Amino acid sequence: MEKNMKCIAKTGMEMAHYAASATVVWCFDRRTFKELVKFDETNSVVDALTHGGEAKNLASPAKEFYKEYLLDQIETSVRLHDSKKVVLMNHVDCGAYGGSKKFANRDEEVRFHIDELKKAEIAVRERIDLPVEKVFLDEEGLWLLE
Ligand SMILES: [Zn+2]
Repeated sequence: MEKNMKCIAKTGMEMAHYAASATVVWCFDRRTFKELVKFDETNSVVDALTHGGEAKNLASPAKEFYKEYLLDQIETSVRLHDSKKVVLMNHVDCGAYGGSKKFANRDEEVRFHIDELKKAEIAVRERIDLPVEKVFLDEEGLWLLE
């Protein structure tokens, strides 16, 4: 290594290239991180694109270039790792949406996120020819929308 670098952690980074079973769009919210690790282990291996607000950046982005950037990232994952599907995750109490306090109750919050995930799916399908799965995460489970 270079002289001006010092090792701050020993790693076991795998150097072999891989194929991703999915490209997931996941919130960077730390409370959701353990579930992302579990999801990765369950699905062999995924490319995780973690951004604040997850599907919001596709469905109702605060700035239009967020959507463009995220779609580019999904395409890059597919190109580099031959990803087989796109998984869009939204979660309860997401700060990017204003948190749970923004909603009158949990049902209203869940319905809102289902609508957002549907809009995000449309944005992906307009550009990327892969199956799209939509999931919602709360304190009880990771729920697949049908
Ligand atoms: Zn979030």
